[in-house]
Amino acid sequence: MQPWLGEEEVAAVAEVIRSGWVAQGPRVARFERSFAARQEVGHAVATSSCTSALHLALLVAGIGPEDDVVVPSFSFIATANAPTYVGARPVFADVDAGTGNLTPATVEAALTDRTRAVVAVDQGGVPVDLDAVRELCDPRGIVVVEDAACAIGSTYRGRPVGAGADVTAWSFHPRKLLTTGEGGMLTTPHEEWADRAARLREHAMSVSAAARHAQVLAPAEEYLEVGFNYRMTDLQAAVGLVQLDRLDAIVARRRQLAAAYHAAIGEIPGLRAVTDPGWGTTNYQSFWVEVLPRHPLDRDTLLTRLAEAGISARRGIMAAHRQPAYADRNTGGADLSVTERLTDRTLILPLYHQLTDDELGRVVDVLRSTRGG
Ligand SMILES: *Cc1c(COP(=O)(O)O)cnc(C)c1O
Repeated sequence: MQPWLGEEEVAAVAEVIRSGWVAQGPRVARFERSFAARQEVGHAVATSSCTSALHLALLVAGIGPEDDVVVPSFSFIATANAPTYVGARPVFADVDAGTGNLTPATVEAALTDRTRAVVAVDQGGVPVDLDAVRELCDPRGIVVVEDAACAIGSTYRGRPVGAGADVTAWSFHPRKLLTTGEGGMLTTPHEEWADRAARLREHAMSVSAAARHAQVLAPAEEYLEVGFNYRMTDLQAAVGLVQLDRLDAIVARRRQLAAAYHAAIGEIPGLRAVTDPGWGTTNYQSFWVEVLPRHPLDRDTLLTRLAEAGISARRGIMAAHRQPAYADRNTGGADLSVTERLTDRTLILPLYHQLTDDELGRVVDVLRSTRGG
């Protein structure tokens, strides 16, 4: 992955510096409004990362100690850490082999008497079948939080992902499609949840710092509960506004490159590439390939062959339940065999906006040369 940044971002940051207002202020507010409009959701609250947005999402949803939160183990570790931050227990559920995402069946297998929330991830950009998960969860009073860290520019049933969730968290880390260096966003249709998240990210102050500093005689503030400093800066938001304008071009180019990978990989026996599910489109944030048992090489040997050709690919998505942070905890004990299979057998191919057709051809040449007899 490489971020796509240009002179427009440089100019936007320079303008913020010249303005003298670099912390959370007018540009963060503008970025939030633009983001909410683009994602077709009522409210957006900018944060320091997706991890902090997930933490706030669980807090505003009322999740706390004694609660169980179903999460996929097949995800970046932050998905499991967020329930842990609020004192809840992450309960790991398995995923579908085709999408890498939770399904109603895998969630149901992980439910307990204490399940109060599910964090449904759009893994690698592939939209989760949110309506199906909600059909299971809504009647049980279980809140579905969407972890759309990877999924800006992906769609679900003709709308942007995240638009149908009670609360969604986004990432602007450079590993994702849209970057602000570090940064995140919480979106929600619920005004009270957005208001509380906006306060919690700013030490739970009754008056925002931006509002106080904009006045000569600042009103006295109160600290309404124990909050956090999860603010985004105006420097970051200025970059985010430019990046938002680039998003359509980024998604279009990624999908074009993915189509070229698909055409080539479809002819190589023993490799299976991630693709659009029936209910939406992926932004191909991670173009992952499963190395099937009938392929002559295993995943790690294939990664080595690519590295020998100067091509940096990566192991697939991690399994959180195998990490030391969670291996010795009670995380529910559901069957996670698909997670383990995907984690062991998948690799992520180079895919970024600036990747040329020739460079993609070099990757494909190595994959073709390893198909065996
Ligand atoms: C990247 C990622 C995160 C964390 O995002 P940060 O902005 O780095 O905190 C959370 N969940 C998933 C699924 C991710 O891929």
